[in-house]
Amino acid sequence: MKLISIVVPVYNEEVNIRHFYEAIRAVMEPLPYTFELIFVDDGSTDSSRSILHALEQEDERVQPIFLARNSGHQLALTCGLDYADGDAVIMMDGDMQHPPEMIPTLLAEWENGYEVVQTIRKTTEGVSFIKKATSNLYYKLLNMISTVPIQPGGSDFRLMDGVVVRAFRRYREHARFIRGMVGAMGYRQKKIEFVAPPRFAGVSKFSPRKMLHFALDGILAYSTLPLRFALYGGVFCGFVSFCLFLHVLFVKYIENDAVPGWATILGCVLFFGGFQLIILGIMGEYIGRIFEETKGRPLYLIARGKPKDEANGGPSAVGARTK
Ligand code: UDP
Ligand code: MG
Repeated sequence: MKLISIVVPVYNEEVNIRHFYEAIRAVMEPLPYTFELIFVDDGSTDSSRSILHALEQEDERVQPIFLARNSGHQLALTCGLDYADGDAVIMMDGDMQHPPEMIPTLLAEWENGYEVVQTIRKTTEGVSFIKKATSNLYYKLLNMISTVPIQPGGSDFRLMDGVVVRAFRRYREHARFIRGMVGAMGYRQKKIEFVAPPRFAGVSKFSPRKMLHFALDGILAYSTLPLRFALYGGVFCGFVSFCLFLHVLFVKYIENDAVPGWATILGCVLFFGGFQLIILGIMGEYIGRIFEETKGRPLYLIARGKPKDEANGGPSAVGARTK
């Protein structure tokens, strides 16, 4: 029987864990799969840990991993993906905002041959107008500057085939925006929409500071455009200074109306202003490339073919074959 791993990052979710566990059992047990439920405790300070220890004793399918400190939702998810053994892995939140009732649909699409089944949050019940508006605006901006399309409303509730999970493990950058990364990986992806209910209990663990951090990671991980501002600005200023310099020459030689030294000073200011920005821009281009290289991302991902069992995992799949 195929094994399904369910990866759930939890941070101070004492009021939700048991309820979530029961909901997963109710959905998974009638299905023709075995499953493991990997809770990644992201440094909880409430009783989440003892609840997870108790569950682990009661049910061997529950396999919690305890992180040493709060590392954030994206890294907790990454840890779960690193240790999931399933033929497919489903990642979801532990607060019931990612409805467990949708799991059979995700699995059905997987059986249809899709390697990634991505859910798209159409709306979230009970979310403020401001949060919706800023989220829309953010995705518009992100898509404008990003090199890969990023799905608005894309959530971290998705199924990934084992091959995709092994490929994903090779992405080791620290600042990560998993929804963008998975979207850009390719493979056969299926999108399904859902309406997120309000969380079952407790409050959101995403403080405005964490949200901002996450938003910035999205922009900086997907675009080196901000670095290019200096270059564009430099070229623009260069052009403007050139026009201004023509004006200076005009005032000095045609109108003969300039204080001695004025033209030289202005000429220098204009020239160096533009010149410095252009040099900054060029440095930005190099930094952008260093940034891309330091991520150490795989050169390509194999969906199927030659490397067989080490598909997308072993060195031979990294494009580093020695023979
Ligand atoms: N979470 C986590 N680490 C954090 C913040 C959140 O593991 O630093 C977990 C949290 O317990 C939940 C999921 O990530 O299972 C989504 O968080 P939350 O529901 O607070 O986010 P929201 O739905 O409000 O965006
Ligand atoms: Mg939530």
